[in-house]
Amino acid sequence: MSDCIFCRIGRKEVKSDIVLESERLIAIKDINPQAPTHILIIPKAHYGTLMDCDDKELLAEMIETAKALARKLGLDKRGFRTVINTNEEGGQTVFHPHMHFMAGERSSAGWDKTRRRKKVWLRYYRARFATAAACS
Ligand code: 5GP
Ligand code: ZN
Repeated sequence: MSDCIFCRIGRKEVKSDIVLESERLIAIKDINPQAPTHILIIPKAHYGTLMDCDDKELLAEMIETAKALARKLGLDKRGFRTVINTNEEGGQTVFHPHMHFMAGERSSAGWDKTRRRKKVWLRYYRARFATAAACS
């Protein structure tokens, strides 16, 4: 039996704000939200990182849980983001795999930065495409 914080949350030894629960997963509100809606989808079984988990049914259930949450919260059409940080350079801080489910207005530097980076790329590709079209 592991003593990690997410195992303890899954066993209800540590209090959390539960949004949804199944036999194998628990979805809780993040203690330090980076978006107006920030939920963590956490398997109850312990693995160190995503790379240690080969349970395809469990991984599929995590994605299906994100979809179910989106429907439950009325975010399926508006949109949401799912992220699994893996290992140190992937930004993982709690070494028990979990999926971040984030939605709502831009609210954090990280959230903004990603969107800004996407806009810069989009501008670059549009400019390249326009140049290619003009030369042909
Ligand atoms: P990671 O950085 O590993 O991808 O994500 C860990 C997440 O877990 C962070 O967003 C952090 O705020 C959240 N977190 C850490 N400890 C707790 C806790 O005890 N309760 C809840 N609800 N969230 C936690
Ligand atoms: Zn654990």
